[in-house]
Amino acid sequence: WDAQGSSAPEEKIFVSVRLRPLNEREIGRNDMSDWECINKNTIIFKSSLPERAMFPTAYTFDRVFGYDCSTEQVYHEGAKQVALSVVSGINSSIFAYGQTSSGKTYTMRGVTEYSVADIYDYIHRHNDREFVLKFSAMEIYNESVRDLLSSDSTPLRLLDDPERGTVIEKLTEVSLRDWGHLQELLSVCEAQRQIGETSLNELSSRSHQILRLTVESSAHQFLGSENSSTLAATVNFIDLAGSERASQTSSASTRLKEGCHINRSLLTLGTVIRKLSKGRNGHIPFRDSKLTRILQNSLGGNARTAIICTMSPAHSHVEQSRNTLVFASCAK
Ligand code: ADP
Ligand code: MG
Repeated sequence: WDAQGSSAPEEKIFVSVRLRPLNEREIGRNDMSDWECINKNTIIFKSSLPERAMFPTAYTFDRVFGYDCSTEQVYHEGAKQVALSVVSGINSSIFAYGQTSSGKTYTMRGVTEYSVADIYDYIHRHNDREFVLKFSAMEIYNESVRDLLSSDSTPLRLLDDPERGTVIEKLTEVSLRDWGHLQELLSVCEAQRQIGETSLNELSSRSHQILRLTVESSAHQFLGSENSSTLAATVNFIDLAGSERASQTSSASTRLKEGCHINRSLLTLGTVIRKLSKGRNGHIPFRDSKLTRILQNSLGGNARTAIICTMSPAHSHVEQSRNTLVFASCAK
């Protein structure tokens, strides 16, 4: 699939899987690696353990990335075309989906940086147009939206605008000056996310983070009317809550409430993506969760979507890894 090809099916979602290496803790407890990417598209369960008989042993996706693949490679082959569609006025969303500690944050940080670097590169090669980049960042926790560029943690309201769709009231939007400025803003977001962590253990595994970059461009006036169009589009980088939350059922009451909310966003996202991947017939329940409401304009219509499903290779995580592959299979 070529995201830039004009014949690309409108609703096609690019689905990839990234297997991270075993980490020190896993190696330390003699955990073993269950999975192997045998070619660019296929990941197999290689252990000859009793579990083997319980589920399919080979899964095929648009792309699979083994533990030796760099984030740069993941970006180039799994997200670049989708991210760069923003300069042509096409909205897009790039997700990292997977259980906690599988590599979502690690992968999305790199993907966001490579994307912005390539967008700047494109801008420098197209000086017939004038570009403005705007950056904003938010976190969704318990169906409540928080601005990651503001120290005010008051939940933000979602409003329905007849022209722009769902608008996040009072969300900070910063004009991005250059690549160094992006680094600063990413640090602010990380710090904001960590402030939450101290009061609520492991918050980042329970919340969804959306970084959004809006690219507006217009032709310089002297170029004449056929070039004077204005383009505007948004690319969203989404670091999802740990997918183990989607299957968590029993817990104390607050955990349960929280589990339900995260469950709702992840389940709704799953439903929306499944429906989109099968074509746009019928009702798509964008409005059933904050996450899908916020992303509606960057998921439906002619928007482009890439999902990077991250996986731990460890045997101790085999159940969650399998759940991730089932989710990924439903999305393609
Ligand atoms: P998640 O966001 O899914 O909870 P993280 O991105 O925080 O997971 O990754 C967990 C740990 O594993 C981090 O220390 C991270 O640096 C490391 N890690 C994740 N993916 C990779 C990878 N592909 N290669 C090397 N280290 C990785
Ligand atoms: Mg994370």
